Amino acid sequence: MTDLAGIVAAIADEMRWEGQRGVVASYIPPLAAVPADKFGLALVMADGAVHLAGDADEPFSVQSISKVFALTLALGAVGDQLWARVGREPSGTAFNSIVQLETEHGIPRNPFINAGAIVVCDVLLGRLRPREAIGQMLRFVRELAGDDAIVIDDDVARAEQETGFRNRALANYMRSFGNLNGEVERVLGTYFHFCALAMSCRQLALAGRYLMNGGAVDGHRIVTENRARRINALMMSCGHYDNSGDFAYRIGLPGKSGVGGGILAIAPGIASIAVWSPGLNAAGNSQLGQLALERLAQRTGWSVFEPRMP
Ligand code: GLN
Repeated sequence: MTDLAGIVAAIADEMRWEGQRGVVASYIPPLAAVPADKFGLALVMADGAVHLAGDADEPFSVQSISKVFALTLALGAVGDQLWARVGREPSGTAFNSIVQLETEHGIPRNPFINAGAIVVCDVLLGRLRPREAIGQMLRFVRELAGDDAIVIDDDVARAEQETGFRNRALANYMRSFGNLNGEVERVLGTYFHFCALAMSCRQLALAGRYLMNGGAVDGHRIVTENRARRINALMMSCGHYDNSGDFAYRIGLPGKSGVGGGILAIAPGIASIAVWSPGLNAAGNSQLGQLALERLAQRTGWSVFEPRMP
């Protein structure tokens, strides 16, 4: 029997002493104020057992991890029609890059880069007003996590609104290609509020259960089994921007990162895992989050490439 509680505690302890902690994101001012020594780890197992370590109950800004939930909602709303407006290929570029949009006629590479997530928001706004879409997202993650205490941090949303010039450029550029129907400020307002969701590792790992469980949680179906598999595939290929190949190589599990320093990773059929450490590597992914997940995968043997998943 693998001693999961021991492994989780040991990893959290090792991370406290790590010197190379990356750099905390500063382009969104409230994120710059988060102490770099924070570290949280949460595992929610398929049988419901929960293992926590460090700051696992402290909410942080989930940022781009919300792109997984937004994609899930958009697929629920329009199904595979979504793929006419956003691709399913790794970008090999930074999360906020604009370069491919020119040669690819305003169609973002995938839903997990900023441009792709902005299109996903636009799709949701085809049927809802921004306030309704934001309410739907909040209800969705609360339901997934089984926790009504989850909120959106308005200070973070406002700061993104004030500093989001790149995102504004991406949205306007896509609009010029006809791949954005809504008014830019309304779409971005929705996108920023999604990014500003504040969740703890425990809440995030609970929210990820549907991806671990083939689309259902406690007998309640969230998405079809096929869709859960496909969202996991996208997380594996595109969840860490131009670092996605390295993440797959080192960790071997689907994952999605955010510039708040969080990562949600899924060991299908086994565990939903959330880790948080605010310092980022050069690609904008949590430095220690990745290291912690690498050690967890090594010590448990969890990998989607494992012929006999334990
Ligand atoms: N809100 C951030 C942005 O739009 C999200 C980026 C991220 O988490 N990688 O820049």
